[in-house]
Amino acid sequence: MKQIPYWLDTAPAFPDRTGKPLPEQADLVVIGGGLTGLSTAYHAARKGAHVVLVEKDKVGSGASGRNGSMCTQGITISPAEARKRYGQPRARELYDAFREAVDVVEELTVKEQIDCDFHRVGRLGVAFKPQHFESMRAKQRDLADNFGHDTTLLSKNDLRAELGSDYYHGALLDPLSAHLHVGKYVHGLAEAAERAGAQIHERNAATALHRIPEGGFLVETLHGTIRAKQVMAATDAYTDKAMPWFRKRLINVGSFVIVTEPLGEERARQLIPNNRVVVDSKNIGHYIRLTPDNRLAFGGRARFAPSNPASDVKSGDVLKQELAEIFPQLSDVRIDYVWGGSVGFSYDRVPHAGEANGLYYSMGYCGHGVQMATYMGRAMAEVMDGHPEANPLRGFGFPKVPVPFYNGTAWFLPFAGAYYKAKDRLR
Ligand SMILES: Cc1cc2nc3c(=O)[nH]c(=O)nc-3n(C[C@H](O)[C@H](O)[C@H](O)COP(=O)(O)OP(=O)(O)OC[C@H]3O[C@@H](n4cnc5c(N)ncnc54)[C@H](O)[C@@H]3O)c2cc1C
Repeated sequence: MKQIPYWLDTAPAFPDRTGKPLPEQADLVVIGGGLTGLSTAYHAARKGAHVVLVEKDKVGSGASGRNGSMCTQGITISPAEARKRYGQPRARELYDAFREAVDVVEELTVKEQIDCDFHRVGRLGVAFKPQHFESMRAKQRDLADNFGHDTTLLSKNDLRAELGSDYYHGALLDPLSAHLHVGKYVHGLAEAAERAGAQIHERNAATALHRIPEGGFLVETLHGTIRAKQVMAATDAYTDKAMPWFRKRLINVGSFVIVTEPLGEERARQLIPNNRVVVDSKNIGHYIRLTPDNRLAFGGRARFAPSNPASDVKSGDVLKQELAEIFPQLSDVRIDYVWGGSVGFSYDRVPHAGEANGLYYSMGYCGHGVQMATYMGRAMAEVMDGHPEANPLRGFGFPKVPVPFYNGTAWFLPFAGAYYKAKDRLR
């Protein structure tokens, strides 16, 4: 069993971007080489900025290369909750941004000829409890009436044509969601950013930021100091002690994925006949899809534990048991890959982006970052070019996690995990 993300293992070999001399200055320094950073670098460079991106490890080594590779519609909070918090017009603007984000990914893959298996397969939100199905009914009406978004409700019986499992009580089908091969996508976006003129420096962490009184920052990195007119923090759940302000605002939750052996086309199609992405409504839920070579990728939070090699294996064992509960026909299947990563959650479960103390940022995508990180990279390139209205998250601030002395170490997660597990058991 390989302990690396399937998406990175099956992408073309990434070029080596380490050891390059750092220029003395730049218009924009982007910190972090995931989808937020790469998209920001790409869009800012295309606007003519001299962009330098520094990445602590390798491009895609954070969440962007280790996710479920789903490019879906929708926010983490419900449309009704968004309306209650922000009022209908802002809720609609937010919802539209999440929807447009999938279009932005698609347009980029076409424009830059990024061959990454992008397909609009649709998303099945599957109901773990009968009452979840009833909530889906209300959500479907709300989406159609107030958000201009048509979805289809599938009863338990209808769902049999979509999923080789009797585990769920129905589903809400969104036709516009997509999936892609995120390893190939990250790789292609990095190349597109470089073609646009951005420089990418790998294995070069930003270690400290010093604000210059006349404007801009001195960015200290492992391999030199660079003077930047603007700096964009694109480090999400992987934010380290170089930027403690963000660590007080993010809760990093471990999420894990197992990938089966190749199942063959016929067996794969019996599991998910229309190749949809599947996301369940459990509190400690699952995300499920087929890979281009007919394996099943099965992800979830598993143990509410941080990701590291030993923890990933333990979480993989939990996921394998859960896989067999949902798809008993796979109880003997071989698992070829297991890995984990950190998902950046904000306290109020929406992403946050803007400017704080002169530093631009976008993070806290709460598990919806493939499309939103791409979208927000484009939006933040506009914001930094003098168009604050391009940011659909403007004015939301970035609330601290309201736990005394919290500094980014979420010691309380196992307790939250136990609570949510107990809630899931009451079926
Ligand atoms: C297991 C898993 C499954 C997921 N599934 C999905 C999914 O199916 N669909 C979806 O939409 N979202 C999913 N997500 C969430 C999504 O992957 C993230 O929201 C998104 O990738 C965030 O992108 P990013 O560029 O902001 O951050 P990241 O990709 O995490 O990149 C941050 C980068 O910053 C670098 N960095 C940190 N500190 C420094 C420093 N001091 N100097 C330089 N570089 C630094 C890190 O090395 C890292 O590469 C999942 C996440 C995980 C972990």
